[in-house]
Amino acid sequence: MRYPLIRALAWSLGLLAFALGPMLLAYLGPGQPREFWVEMGVGLGFVGLSLLLLQFLLTGRYDQVAESFGLDSMLQFHKQLGLIALVLILAHPVVLFLTDPDYLEYLDPRVNFLRALSLSGVTGALLLLVATSLWRVTFRLNYEWWRVVHGSLASFILLIGIVHPIQVGHYVAGPWLVGLFAAMGVGALALLVNTRVIRPWRMRRRPWRLVEVRQERGEAATLVFEPDGHEGFRFEPGQFAWLTLNDTPFTLQQHPFSFSSSADEAPGRLEFTIKGEGDFSTWARQVDPGLTAFLEGPFGAFVPPRDPEVGCVMLVGGVGVTPCMSMLRTFADRGDTRPLVLIYANEELEGVIFRNEIEELRESLDLEVIHVLEEPPEDWEGEEGLVDKDLLARLLPDDDRVYDHFVCGPEPMMDAVEKALLALEVPQRRILSERFNMV
Ligand SMILES: Cc1cc2nc3c(=O)[nH]c(=O)nc-3n(C[C@H](O)[C@H](O)[C@H](O)COP(=O)(O)OP(=O)(O)OC[C@H]3O[C@@H](n4cnc5c(N)ncnc54)[C@H](O)[C@@H]3O)c2cc1C
Repeated sequence: MRYPLIRALAWSLGLLAFALGPMLLAYLGPGQPREFWVEMGVGLGFVGLSLLLLQFLLTGRYDQVAESFGLDSMLQFHKQLGLIALVLILAHPVVLFLTDPDYLEYLDPRVNFLRALSLSGVTGALLLLVATSLWRVTFRLNYEWWRVVHGSLASFILLIGIVHPIQVGHYVAGPWLVGLFAAMGVGALALLVNTRVIRPWRMRRRPWRLVEVRQERGEAATLVFEPDGHEGFRFEPGQFAWLTLNDTPFTLQQHPFSFSSSADEAPGRLEFTIKGEGDFSTWARQVDPGLTAFLEGPFGAFVPPRDPEVGCVMLVGGVGVTPCMSMLRTFADRGDTRPLVLIYANEELEGVIFRNEIEELRESLDLEVIHVLEEPPEDWEGEEGLVDKDLLARLLPDDDRVYDHFVCGPEPMMDAVEKALLALEVPQRRILSERFNMV
């Protein structure tokens, strides 16, 4: 990721303060410290709760967060933090039960039915939340319903997580601390309501019109949109937006797509190129112009630097070409002549999306194009097979210039390319990735 050291440091300190904040605040309260392992168990619970609160901020599509991390890293971070929160929250009762079995009464419905029910429920909800995220496809949950389940379970866990220390009342006692913890819970839920309700509410005044559908090679189609009654928005090449193709923004259907058009055509017109992979994308390829759409964005940090001294190596596969196509078109519109290398992997020559236009762009750009085909035609003289370290060692530019490396394609290809680039001593900060399969 590309962000200055100071920003990274500020984020790290902020995260640390966030993770430890509620626990330190609680310790300021009237509660007296108890034996070490009890305090350890309680502390684990507080830190787990803080990490849970943080998740609402990370996933709320806030520009400052997305810009600093980039979507890909942010979602990886969200997943890892979720797993850490799970371990801490589960360790919280286990440590307490092992230290003093009397704590088991928290799960005894004869002592307090509601408390036992909510604590057992929250444990089940936490496990279900993590399991449905890690094995969504195995559970046969489609993405839209998964988001509903994920948001609902997270809200329930947060609610119980806030009520529990207040109800225990040892550390979180007195109007100030109770008020503060309640405010933290309300704040996190407000972030969720903002993302899922208030933003769509605002978007309803800014509809877009689908004005053209162009069929492309490789079972893809380009959908062209124009703002309907507003000025639209600008984006950076390489960014993406969430597309809702419906008369209302209040729908579960919302899919991320990279802009494939030149950033200089915005704000009046923008394009997405969609490959039919599942229910929505297969349907979207075949729709007729005239439909209403809603766009939330732009998002993403998969963006070339403004400095034309920095060259770009684009390592893409299949429909992963879309964000880089936006970069190429934008560079051409801007007369930007920085050195560009496009290493473009596909199964067959016929399925190479934008093949002809990329050829044409070579005339106006300093662009080298290397097609890598898995199943090349008989008379093929170009590269064949998969993109791997040997191929990159031969094809990466070896001049003294600084290059950013943009990686976007099928997951196995991205894993292999990222690993190969690092092995070839490309600095991590010069590798930018955009993964299309988020969960
Ligand atoms: C940043 C980004 C940019 C993308 N750009 C493009 C692009 O330019 N062209 C293109 O063809 N595809 C792009 N995709 C992928 C595209 O979003 C998915 O292929 C599409 O959402 C699949 O939905 P489906 O119902 O057709 O398929 P499904 O079979 O339901 O889903 C296939 C996979 O797509 C992902 N997915 C499904 N729905 C969503 C959703 N609402 N939000 C997030 N992920 C989802 C999931 O990982 C799922 O496993 C991009 C994805 C991301 C994250």
